[in-house]
Parts: sequence; C-alpha cells; structure tokens
Amino acid sequence: MFLDLTQIRSAEEHVERVYQPEALAKPDDDYVIVEPVGLSFDVFKSGESYRVAGRVKTTLELTCSRCLDGFRLPVDGPFDVRFLPHSQNLGEGELEVEDEELDVGYFSDESIDLGQLVREQFYLAIPMKPLCREDCRGLCPVCGVNLNSETCSCRPKWEDPRLAPLEALIKPDKN
Ligand SMILES: [Zn+2]
Ligand SMILES: [Zn+2]
Repeated sequence: MFLDLTQIRSAEEHVERVYQPEALAKPDDDYVIVEPVGLSFDVFKSGESYRVAGRVKTTLELTCSRCLDGFRLPVDGPFDVRFLPHSQNLGEGELEVEDEELDVGYFSDESIDLGQLVREQFYLAIPMKPLCREDCRGLCPVCGVNLNSETCSCRPKWEDPRLAPLEALIKPDKN
C-alpha cells in the first residue's frame, strides 16, 4: 500500500484507490474493517515535498465500551498531510518542522506509506470510549445482562462506600 512518487510527474495529480480490508488489517487492531477502504486524494508536488489531501472512506466495526456489543462506525475522514523526504527529519541544521504544523509525514524510497496514512485516519475517527449509541445502558453490574435488550430484577446499589461516612452525617438517625 504505497504511493510510488516516481509515478507523480505533474504538479497536481488525482489518485483513487480501493483496498480490501485484508490489506490493512493487523492482528492487534481494536477494530474490524468491514467494508473496502476507499481512498481519494490529490497529490501536489512542490520541490521535494508532496502535499496529499483527500478522504478515506470505509466502515469499521468497534466494540461498545459499555455493553461490549459490536457496532458499526462509518468513516469518512478528510486528511491533508505534507510529506517531506525522510532525510529532512535527520541531523542538525536541516529543515525544522514547526510544532503547530501537525499534519506532516515523511517518506523514503520515493514512496508514501498509504497504509499508515489510513490507519492514522482510523485512530482519529475512533472515539476514546466507543459507544454503540449515546444512551447505551450497558451491562447490569450484578447479573451481566445487556440492559439495552433485556431487563433483570437486580437492584444495583450505586452507593459509593467512600460516601458512607458523609451520609451518616447527613442522616444522623442512621447511627
Ligand atoms: Zn453499548
Ligand atoms: Zn441484573
């Protein structure tokens, strides 16, 4: 999954690629790619650097952090990354990249790693705490049923033991 830069002969070129999920999947991913990954971008060549701007589209399957069910997350992520030759990232006195210029990548061997670009977009798209839906009710902490689809007769006590002394102060009759 590389973009061969020797094939980029003009100042601006449009590239369309479609990759099957297997081409991108890694065993330790915490998502599953369930649709082909569409990449559509423009490449702007300027001197030694290349600006790559476009979108990555697919659908990922994630695990809800509350109820542990799988759910699908459509991804349509825009990116705009400036790729510099890897040598510019080495040594002193070379071109320094400003901190605020976040979307900078490096390439070597005249090729850009599109797989890495796509995976970065996935990580940007995936929330810190993935939820199957905003109001997911999660699992019963007592019996473990999925409260989105089932009910149970447990009455979980949500009291925080650290608050018990406080409660005793509020309700002195409990002593
Ligand atoms: Zn859920
Ligand atoms: Zn229960």
